[in-house]
Amino acid sequence: MGKTLFSRAVLGLVALWLLAQVQAFSTERMQADLQALQSQGPRVAGTPAVAAAGEYLAAELRKAGYTVEYFPFTYSRTRDQGSSLVVGSTSFPVNSVSGSPSRRVEGPLAVVPGAGLADDFAGLNLQGRIAVVRRGGIPGLEKARLAAEKGALAVILVTEEPSSTRFTFGGSSPIPGVTLSRSNGEGLFSQAGDRAVLETRIVTEEVQGRNVIAKRSSQNPLAIVGAHYDSVPGSPGANDNASGTATVLELARQLAPSPLSERIWFMFFDGEEDGLWGSRRFVEQNPELVRGLKAMLNLDMVGVDVNGSLGIGGSNELRALADCNALQVACGSAPGGGSDHVPFAQAGVPVLFFFRGLDPNYHRPTDTLADPVLLAQTGQVVRGILERLLR
Ligand SMILES: [Zn+2]
Repeated sequence: MGKTLFSRAVLGLVALWLLAQVQAFSTERMQADLQALQSQGPRVAGTPAVAAAGEYLAAELRKAGYTVEYFPFTYSRTRDQGSSLVVGSTSFPVNSVSGSPSRRVEGPLAVVPGAGLADDFAGLNLQGRIAVVRRGGIPGLEKARLAAEKGALAVILVTEEPSSTRFTFGGSSPIPGVTLSRSNGEGLFSQAGDRAVLETRIVTEEVQGRNVIAKRSSQNPLAIVGAHYDSVPGSPGANDNASGTATVLELARQLAPSPLSERIWFMFFDGEEDGLWGSRRFVEQNPELVRGLKAMLNLDMVGVDVNGSLGIGGSNELRALADCNALQVACGSAPGGGSDHVPFAQAGVPVLFFFRGLDPNYHRPTDTLADPVLLAQTGQVVRGILERLLR
């Protein structure tokens, strides 16, 4: 065997070995993980289902050789127990806006003209009335405050969104607020003076959440790879976000034998769907650890190919480490917000957000499918970035 031929053979073997490494993501194992995560039903923060999912993750991570710690935290969540609006003898399908007080009010309807901007409230007398106003232009909370200043008892926000969409004031409103889709609520703009009864029935509950953290070293990590494992009520949360969870879990298994795993924490966040509570509380309570991070990589909704590519958003320097071409993965861009990387980014940590887009089953009972092949592709890209960043 000639020398050239020999080195070619060696190169060939190295290439095969590299390929084997890349293919080491086990789609069978991830399929089993996806099933295990969905088997308990919706993993709503604070419920036994999410607790069981957390225990599954902990057991799998321990099996892979990690030390597992729970990071418990609390927050309060409001729940609509069925709010209602009756005008004359007609009922309307309303949703309370999160941040509303729980109250029953009765009075004539009053219409706020135009787009319902601050100027549109000028000169209105809303005393003892229920204000009907279009949503948008200025924050809903500002509309509620303006209406309350004019004496309104409550505010009905007519929205362009479907009636299932839930809104939040992002703070507490002095008067109850409900939303109504335009198709159901447009008629109210011509019913000024009609008698209405509006009731918001809202309870506040304390939620106990729990992040799951896997590590191999007692030292602070240089990188965190994370995914939220909770889901919304009524949805099995396959793509959102058993997909990211199973990918991070499999990545942790693969990296366990490598020294790299001593510099990474694998984190599974709870309470994401209620407002990024798991990541926010962790960042708040670990300022020093967070300051030492070179990267936080977050995976959310990576199991359905919505856009024909893997969206990667965040730090350009980190993004440049993604070797999508060599891995033959189509990569695109992702939006900046909306998931657990945000509190880290706000604390100054370079972040990347891996996201394949909102699929039609998003937050629905039909969110039952995630493709392990797409998970494997995502995991390979994430792994490549970690190898380049930390080697
Ligand atoms: Zn999500």
